[in-house]
Amino acid sequence: MTLRDLARMGEQNLTAAGVPDAKHDAMALLLESFGITKSDYVLHGETDLIGTAPGTKPSFVKDLAASLEKYREGIRRRSEREPLQQILGTAPFMGFEFSVDENVLVPRGDTEVLVETVIGDLQGQTPGLTCLDLCTGSGCIGISLAKLAGMEVTLSDISEAALAVAYKNASVLAPQCSLVQSDLFENIPQRFDLIVSNPPYIRDDVIETLDPEVRAYEPRTALSGGADGLSFYRRIAADAPAHLRENGRLYLEIGFDQGKDVSRILTENGFTDVKVHKDYCGNDRVVSAAKG
Ligand code: GLN
Repeated sequence: MTLRDLARMGEQNLTAAGVPDAKHDAMALLLESFGITKSDYVLHGETDLIGTAPGTKPSFVKDLAASLEKYREGIRRRSEREPLQQILGTAPFMGFEFSVDENVLVPRGDTEVLVETVIGDLQGQTPGLTCLDLCTGSGCIGISLAKLAGMEVTLSDISEAALAVAYKNASVLAPQCSLVQSDLFENIPQRFDLIVSNPPYIRDDVIETLDPEVRAYEPRTALSGGADGLSFYRRIAADAPAHLRENGRLYLEIGFDQGKDVSRILTENGFTDVKVHKDYCGNDRVVSAAKG
């Protein structure tokens, strides 16, 4: 039995379970289970893991039985459509590794556009700016801004379990961040230079049509934006002005079809300079605005 055999078997199991990207996910689980890199796999993929003479166990294998069990369990969980990142316990975002679990949304590549837009807009002027990340989840947005742009960031979420994940990530990546448990602005008295958020924005009737990875495993509270998907934008737009300093700015992630609605909601609440920004697939993804 070789690593290549294991990769093939895992891929077959995942394919049979209807998992998209079965080959990729089996490989990620294999590398994680054996604690090896892709280069180890490339160099040692054909080495027999079991049939070698006593004392000649390949050096890249530390505990074969434990690794095999971990891999088997990982493939089983992924076959049930648990998200790969929840099984691995980590997800990449802006080049950093974020811890994740079932209490937070897995950081999405699309959300990086929010961070890039903020940094791009405020080039060079970000260090020392105060920033509130509402609905922070894993903390990926706020922590990236603290790390990459030197902002003073407050991470906030309604969920204590989500904040525990954000706390873990902040401890490793940006310990200077503050955390607060709050239903949007409820427990937040102060004003900020910036407010950023990727709030829940999926329409309730759409949630059941999503992939099982999302609808069965990601927290509903992180997904549901109410009947029309816009409830958090209305609440944020109404209350953000009182929490922004003069010239303060607001950056919100949006669904691909929400650019017009969210722009209108912001304008109705007195925001100016309202702009919609696209993601790398060409979809509307971020709305920015200035306190009017
Ligand atoms: N801010 C977090 C993220 O972008 C969580 C978002 C959410 O829970 N809707 O991943």
